[in-house]
Amino acid sequence: MQCPNCGSTHIRKNGKNRDKQNHICVACGRQFIQDYAPTPSGYSDEVKALCLRMYVNGSGFRAIERVTGVHHTTVITWVKLVGQNLPDAYDPDQAPQVGELDELETFIASKKTKSGFGQP
Ligand SMILES: [Zn+2]
Repeated sequence: MQCPNCGSTHIRKNGKNRDKQNHICVACGRQFIQDYAPTPSGYSDEVKALCLRMYVNGSGFRAIERVTGVHHTTVITWVKLVGQNLPDAYDPDQAPQVGELDELETFIASKKTKSGFGQP
């Protein structure tokens, strides 16, 4: 396990929070829970983009998991992040803090053009 802040592996247990094991980084003092993952790491942007593309093309989360190997809860997290970061009306003054915004906009646009895709 690594500190999500500094990457140190010098981690100590720090009690429990809502039934989840809490940890503290000895190096920088950052506290986090074991499955803490605001931006799930370990997957490249390409894998993330692939999962999101599969989602907007009608694949279920478990199908995405089977194809990409990414756990479906991780994919759900990404989809939720996309929804939060892309308001209906794009406001440059409130640009979301995501590096892959262009890519996300592309697939949201494709979702709109393909509305009804897979539906009777
Ligand atoms: Zn740290």
